[in-house]
Amino acid sequence: MKIEWRDSGREPRCKPDPAFPQGVDLDLSAGAEKTCFTELPYPARRCGLYIIECPTCELRTGVTTAGRPDDPRSVKMACKPLPPPDVWRSMVSAPMNATWVEVKYLDHENKEQTVQAHWANGGGDEQPRFRGWFRRAGDSGFVGIPDPHAWRPLQKGDPA
Ligand SMILES: [Zn+2]
Repeated sequence: MKIEWRDSGREPRCKPDPAFPQGVDLDLSAGAEKTCFTELPYPARRCGLYIIECPTCELRTGVTTAGRPDDPRSVKMACKPLPPPDVWRSMVSAPMNATWVEVKYLDHENKEQTVQAHWANGGGDEQPRFRGWFRRAGDSGFVGIPDPHAWRPLQKGDPA
């Protein structure tokens, strides 16, 4: 889960709710069968908002904080079913491992290209460091893709 803090710059004005001296476990899932869960930095610095994004379902939720003992310390949300495999998705949810997927990017002529690519992060003593999205080039080489903006799983029958 990606957690981003938005600081409101304000200190709390009211007293905390004495019923929750150890924080609140927020359940926003409404009893959904599939859920995602994350712990939150607790207590929050002061009044503000945590933006929580689930990389699996791409659901974004905002949770307010006050910098008090009754702040949320965890949140559970309903996990949306994943989009069908032919739907293009935001790169936030792209697999950051060696899985081959399809990505779309703009080439140097600003034309949208679709290629098979995978995330890679390596190098070291033997070769220069590399980190990012790469497609095959020739028999054994790889070329980096500057800034892909969408991805989807390999389509049925695609050779990986
Ligand atoms: Zn989720």
